Amino acid sequence: MAASDLDAQANITGSSKEDDATYDAIVVGAGASGIGVGITLQHVGIENFLIIDRDTVGASFAAWPAETRFITPSFPSNSIGMLDLNSIAIGVSPAYNMRVEHPTGAEYATHLQNLVKYFELPIQEKTNVTSIEKHDDLFAIETENGVIHAKNVVWSAGEYQYPSLSGFSGAELCRHTATVDSYSQLEGDNFLIIGGYESGIDAAYHLAKNDKKVSVFDMEGPWESESSDPSVALSTYSFERMRHEKFEENVSLHAHSIVTLVNQVNDTYQVITGDGQTFTSEVQPLFAGGFDGSHKFVSHLFNTRDDGFPEINENDESTIMPGMYLAGPSVRHDGHIFCFIFKYRQRFAIVAKSIAESLGLETEDFVAAYKSWGMYLDDLSCCGQECLIC
Ligand SMILES: Cc1cc2nc3c(=O)[nH]c(=O)nc-3n(C[C@H](O)[C@H](O)[C@H](O)COP(=O)(O)OP(=O)(O)OC[C@H]3O[C@@H](n4cnc5c(N)ncnc54)[C@H](O)[C@@H]3O)c2cc1C
Repeated sequence: MAASDLDAQANITGSSKEDDATYDAIVVGAGASGIGVGITLQHVGIENFLIIDRDTVGASFAAWPAETRFITPSFPSNSIGMLDLNSIAIGVSPAYNMRVEHPTGAEYATHLQNLVKYFELPIQEKTNVTSIEKHDDLFAIETENGVIHAKNVVWSAGEYQYPSLSGFSGAELCRHTATVDSYSQLEGDNFLIIGGYESGIDAAYHLAKNDKKVSVFDMEGPWESESSDPSVALSTYSFERMRHEKFEENVSLHAHSIVTLVNQVNDTYQVITGDGQTFTSEVQPLFAGGFDGSHKFVSHLFNTRDDGFPEINENDESTIMPGMYLAGPSVRHDGHIFCFIFKYRQRFAIVAKSIAESLGLETEDFVAAYKSWGMYLDDLSCCGQECLIC
């Protein structure tokens, strides 16, 4: 389906522009979430919105290590009404556009840039948001280029640019995998990787293929998990790569191995685990332990859940600050984790509908169109812990 077909299905009446200096909505972040939300805002009929990004469209993806690829496969399944797993919008298939099953970050960044051109989305790049406050009914979004006012804000600044280097003593001595440009450029022969979920296994695979010896430590051991939920267990793509002969030859996996301390003694790094073992290397240990996430930046605008994520209502809107929305991998409802594109994309239209209705726009046809594509997940009761796609 082309974008124009969807426009015909949706009731596009256009939003008011009574005050050009005030936007109906500002979307912060032009990654997969921000661009996806932007397309749904456009489809529901909101015209007076802007997507802003501190860098460029798809900047986080462009910053992935050169060798890293999507673990979720792309397939041009749209023709039978099943959206490509890596698509962020109805009618879009990265597989069809790029002819690649597991895109690199750089390829996906280009894909997002192409979507911006195709949908003619309003974008302002190189605009770093430094603070957001709400005065009366308007948000003041302070950026390094001035203040922008909006009735609604969608926070979609992601996680990748906010890596975490904590959890044990000496964590700051490690190098986060999000800062690696290319595994082939890392010097040394013996690598210690803390964290054995997707990023840690990805790093181990690329290093092992370059004949490096690698030890991976994980407090649990996702490669042993029996869960079917890819938010918890490793992906099929990773299991496949773990069977590569170089991985089997060069990588040792340490499950249930809690790193308690990282030390540097002269030119040698020591990784010490809870059971008293010490592992050494002259190479700075790699930390693949996740991200603090950008939601910490706007924590004053949300209540915080027990797990540290923002508390949101059924519209993914702050429970304490009406008009402040969250989109992307930080979205959590009860025990449901929306950390992959195929999960969190199903909430874009929920946000768009809520904003549209606050502006007095009709949303019935829009919701029907999105529901028919599995892009409107409003009933989580059908979703068990294991699976969020009903
Ligand atoms: C190694 C790796 C592999 C992955 N593989 C997959 C996969 O196979 N499939 C999948 O579905 N997901 C995958 N993910 C997860 C996926 O990458 C994320 O879900 C996705 O990047 C989130 O998109 P986002 O738009 O929320 O955040 P981002 O892509 O990080 O975009 C956020 C944007 O916000 C901007 N920004 C940040 N702070 C500010 C600020 N203060 N002011 C203005 N702009 C700001 C940034 O410049 C950035 O462009 C992977 C993640 C990693 C790290």
